[in-house]
Amino acid sequence: TKWVYGFGNGTAEGSAEMRNLLGGKGANLAEMSNLGLPVPPGFTITTEVCTWYYEHDKSYPGDLRAQVDAALAEVGRLTGRAFGDSANPLLVSVRSGARASMPGMMDTVLNLGLNDVTVKAIGEGAEDMRFAYDSYRRFIQMYSDVVLGVEHHAFEEILQEHKDNNGHVLDTDLSAEELAVVIEQFKALVEEELGRPFPQDPMEQLWGAIGAVFGSWMTPRAQTYRRLHDIPATWGTAVNVQAMVFGNMGETSATGVAFTRNPSTGEKALYGEFLVNAQGEDVVAGIRTPQDLTEKARLEAGSERPSLESLMPEAFREFVTICDRLEGHYRDMQDLEFTIERGKLWMLQTRSGKRTAKAALKIAVDMVSEGLLSERQAVTRVEPAALDQLLHPTIDPKAERDIFATGLPASPGAASGAIVFTSDEAEQEKAAGRKVILVRVETSPEDIHGMHAAEGILTSRGGMTSHAAVVARGMGKPCVSGAGLLRVDYRAGTLSAGGRVLKKGDTITIDGSTGQVLLGDVPMLQPSLSGDFATLMGWADGVRRMRVRTNAETPADARVAREFGAEGIGLCRTEHMFFEGERIVAVREMILSETEEGRRAALAKLLPMQRNDFIQLFEIMKGLPVTIRLLDPPLHEFLPKSDEEIAEVAAAMGVDAQKLRERSHELEEFNPMLGHRGCRLLVSYPEIAEMQARAIFEAAIEAGRATGAPVVPEIMVPLVGLKAELDLVRDRIDAMARAVAGETGAQLAYQVGTMVELPRAALRAAEIAASAEFFSFGTNDLTQTTFGISRDDAASFLGTYQQKGLLEQDPFVSLDRDGVGELVKIGAERGRSARPEIKLGICGEHGGDPASIDFCESVGLDYVSCSPFRVPIARLAAAQAAL
Ligand code: ADP
Ligand code: MG
Ligand code: MG
Repeated sequence: TKWVYGFGNGTAEGSAEMRNLLGGKGANLAEMSNLGLPVPPGFTITTEVCTWYYEHDKSYPGDLRAQVDAALAEVGRLTGRAFGDSANPLLVSVRSGARASMPGMMDTVLNLGLNDVTVKAIGEGAEDMRFAYDSYRRFIQMYSDVVLGVEHHAFEEILQEHKDNNGHVLDTDLSAEELAVVIEQFKALVEEELGRPFPQDPMEQLWGAIGAVFGSWMTPRAQTYRRLHDIPATWGTAVNVQAMVFGNMGETSATGVAFTRNPSTGEKALYGEFLVNAQGEDVVAGIRTPQDLTEKARLEAGSERPSLESLMPEAFREFVTICDRLEGHYRDMQDLEFTIERGKLWMLQTRSGKRTAKAALKIAVDMVSEGLLSERQAVTRVEPAALDQLLHPTIDPKAERDIFATGLPASPGAASGAIVFTSDEAEQEKAAGRKVILVRVETSPEDIHGMHAAEGILTSRGGMTSHAAVVARGMGKPCVSGAGLLRVDYRAGTLSAGGRVLKKGDTITIDGSTGQVLLGDVPMLQPSLSGDFATLMGWADGVRRMRVRTNAETPADARVAREFGAEGIGLCRTEHMFFEGERIVAVREMILSETEEGRRAALAKLLPMQRNDFIQLFEIMKGLPVTIRLLDPPLHEFLPKSDEEIAEVAAAMGVDAQKLRERSHELEEFNPMLGHRGCRLLVSYPEIAEMQARAIFEAAIEAGRATGAPVVPEIMVPLVGLKAELDLVRDRIDAMARAVAGETGAQLAYQVGTMVELPRAALRAAEIAASAEFFSFGTNDLTQTTFGISRDDAASFLGTYQQKGLLEQDPFVSLDRDGVGELVKIGAERGRSARPEIKLGICGEHGGDPASIDFCESVGLDYVSCSPFRVPIARLAAAQAAL
């Protein structure tokens, strides 16, 4: 088997297409090399080796070593050096690279191959001992940290002490002699920690680093990340070994990162940062503040420090040309890493750049006008879930802003919450239903869970490309980074700036669009949905097949959903209307009455209110379909619970408190979820269905007259398991339709259908369809009843299931295709077999989940229905599913 793929010198054995085998980084290094771009030569050990490694008790294929040796020799040939050679040594970087870029994987090790002998040769070759020692101390530090597990900060402390003792501020101020001393101390530290010396043999170093990359694939951090992003463990990571180029060879050398367009706004302008005389991750580590790439950016930022454009014009021009070339080649915004060694530019990475939703929209729309993309391609370029960011509030410009501090606008949107200083606290507070802002000096991959739990993230250190900024943008969370004047004191639990001190629990608002940190809970505005958003959504609407409806029962929700493009209501839960204002009194009266007569009297009071609700919804929906579900929850939910409440309600209703308590007791159920609810209530009390049907019909007539758009209501009977249940309720509805038509002389068009939310209904769909003009898959209940897992109790064990790998995803969030999905498929097929024109939709939470929407398309459902704020997401996801 071929385990190793070489690249460099204008050719490569791999290409961008081989991402699965070579990982993202390796595939793109090969592609850049094929394009003839300046890429230091190297090779990629494939992801198949990773899989092999874990299938064979963490060992390597027998022929791997020979292939690595040969590839290493070829890199030596191309660079005119030899790995481990004492006169002309080759140094390499060892870089991990999975298919999808993945925090949590091993950090890159640079300058590998250095030891007490080769460091001299490197220094003499470059005629710069300071550079050689700087590389060596970096190597010991990185290798010890990521491969040997000696903590990073121990080295930092030694370095800091040296700087302090010698009056230096920056790492670059340290002389060759000083660095030589630092190195001796580093080595002593390693020996003390590990009980053996720092490895001097380059081959041992290399295999140590390769093993560490494969080992990092199974760390808890990496596993958590994979779980959150649905990346299967079987994908594995590749290892890239690449000849070093040096950005730390003095003032004509540099290293930097860039985006071909602004990742925050999408503006078509090169955007990035660099540092002179630096290596690797110095730029993102926030130790020195990086400089702007372009003059334009420098002027806009009002920075005194020169841009790369003015400092190294030739390398800069070449870089700009390469950026354009790569963007055109990949037809996407690129995120690039480069190093300049004594004026010569080298490309170290390219990939599709992460971007905010706003930027994603702008870039997709711009690229269509630039002729780089077709409209259909543009539709695939925006991640549906990311639209959420655009639907988030921004700070009301009229609101008073008490600015506490200002940092970088790292990820747009605004959020308020209580200050917490650790990710664990963020998670706990969130679980307790509180909103928090995670405040850190800087974040690391260990903070992912806290960042997920927080409304927003604030850091005192780090630039626009810092960990916090990149991850927050990916998550669509507001983030302010590098608020330098902010002092975060973890020990004291305080956050201070400008003489003011805040504590854990105090409320702040961050504005990720301006970088401001504000005191208190600041008023916010809803976002606008015009411009690029409207353009792209228009294209999406043009390609999608499924309709998108909303789950709404209040006029406010219905209006929002219409603005977001909902094409009707897929689920109106009438019980929500029963809680409002004085209605609850009539509802309780109905529940408490012992006779049908009494119930009818109470229902008569509810009728005009219900009718009014429906008129409003029908008017807002202007002839679009509206599905109204008849009363669903167990009656017990409507009764007061505590003794005080009971006393109060009894007094208000003029009934005996004791009687009320008894009735409440009677209605209590061991397992209400599976109890007297849904159509079972309507079977017991058909008069409820009659009242609701009358309200619906009368409202349809009135709204139809008022708007001129005829209303064809869809009446949905919940929790049907037997055809006979549906028939019984349906008879009452049909009778009511005849009655209302007779009274008013109006023509009535309507449909009756059912929610498919019990496995039996899915299995018996053919016979049920004889009485149902539509099915709506109620996948919340269908998931509960298929798994036999109560949604309200699932939290205590589903997490464990996910951690132990029993379930990849929470089935209440993303539809379980294999089980629940099979029932949906069966229900759809059998329903259609009996009634080919039957209308099929889905109305659980899954209706707004892109992966579940993709499934709905594959089953051929007619529409999905979701909460108002997810409507745009569903429109785009439905379009992508259709492509
Ligand atoms: P990450 O996935 O965290 O970005 P990389 O493997 O891209 O890690 O490495 C991070 C940085 O290390 C690169 O941006 C580059 O600056 C530096 N680097 C990696 N390989 C080399 C190399 N062969 N020569 C010089 N610098 C390198
Ligand atoms: Mg890294
Ligand atoms: Mg990189």
